[in-house]
Amino acid sequence: MLVYKFGGASVADPSRMAALLPILKENTQPVLIVISALGKTTNALENIVNHACRDEKPKAQWLASMLEQQHLDYARRLLKGNFLTIATKVLNNYFAELNEAVLKADTFNYDFSYDQIVGMGEIFSSCLFSNFLLQNDIKNEWVDARLLIRTDDTYRDAIVDYEYSLMQAKQLIEVPLLKGLFVVTQGFIGATEAGNTTTLGREGSDYSAAIIAAMLNAESVTIWKDVEGLLNADPKLFPNTIKIDRITYKEVIEMAFFGAQIIHPKTIKPLQNNNIPLYIKCFFDKDKQGTIITDDVEEIAYPPIIVLKENQILIQVITRDFSFITEENLSKLYEIFHILKIKINLIQNAAISFIACIDNREDKVKSLIHELSKNYKVLNNDNVSLLTIRHYNTDIITELTKNRNLLLQQITRKTMQVVMK
Ligand code: ASP
Ligand code: MG
Repeated sequence: MLVYKFGGASVADPSRMAALLPILKENTQPVLIVISALGKTTNALENIVNHACRDEKPKAQWLASMLEQQHLDYARRLLKGNFLTIATKVLNNYFAELNEAVLKADTFNYDFSYDQIVGMGEIFSSCLFSNFLLQNDIKNEWVDARLLIRTDDTYRDAIVDYEYSLMQAKQLIEVPLLKGLFVVTQGFIGATEAGNTTTLGREGSDYSAAIIAAMLNAESVTIWKDVEGLLNADPKLFPNTIKIDRITYKEVIEMAFFGAQIIHPKTIKPLQNNNIPLYIKCFFDKDKQGTIITDDVEEIAYPPIIVLKENQILIQVITRDFSFITEENLSKLYEIFHILKIKINLIQNAAISFIACIDNREDKVKSLIHELSKNYKVLNNDNVSLLTIRHYNTDIITELTKNRNLLLQQITRKTMQVVMK
């Protein structure tokens, strides 16, 4: 069984979706397709949640109706006859579901409301895709991922219940595939036992593809993107990037963990655990080699791999009574970060101080500083960037830190990290 994940860019407009047909048609075996929301739909839905929760319901509803028009227009350009009629009807129903979620949204249940609204994007896109495949004689079953992926109720960052989801995957995915049908489902979403939609974190469709692949022991997963493969840096930030042909799971998990946008950080573990290769390929040119991510078979010579995370904040915590930052204080500090679900991107401690570099998410940082200040003196330095270079050399460090004020630097054998202003 093959798993293909199509990201938002690959279906951003009807002509792009249509261009995916040859990729699917050349397969002799049916494929499980995991799809993201069309283009920038998820951002548009986030905007809708924000208005809905700010008690600007009419504005939110208006934005939702604009989004509906865009999807209907997409359907008209993509589909004909009966396929168009069916898709239009289904979209109308799901947009009614969105409207209901908008009316119910409230600030006090922000994360819950977020998932009910933002989770709809993949439902819309997958309906279009499934009907488009039918129109082109690719028989397929559309599967609602909310019946497939069972999660806990950590809205916006839900944890998957593997056992239950596996049982569902056998029924909902494996059975149709064995019958020779393609399966189209949504990435990014799942549902709680009570049936409320949950999301797995932004860009979570990669992760969805990986967990379903792991559950059903797929032959491989391919993520179809608008770049030719995995690059050694983000081409939007750095010129002269180099494409990497082959790379290990370990290297990619490090990159993703340090903030590379190419792949959702949780994607690698289920694949590595089940030894399923991951291909990154370009949907503009399906025959290009792309990148293969597998296990460490032999030493690979990598170019410097660069990850830049902007909008960071350095938080410095100092003990008021000059007690040392050792195990006791450290475990108290970690506990605070853990409870607030704040990931530390870089950490350093000294005799009576502890420094952490984290994403500057306003809501989280506020409560963090509030909690820390109860027992410690807290200083911060915002608007800083965190640069990570794997397989660094001195030239590249000099070049990338030129004219910057370096606030903190850590170097290990393979990785250099610096916080700079
Ligand atoms: N549509 C979701 C997002 O943009 C999930 C994904 O694309 O992976 O975050
Ligand atoms: Mg997306």
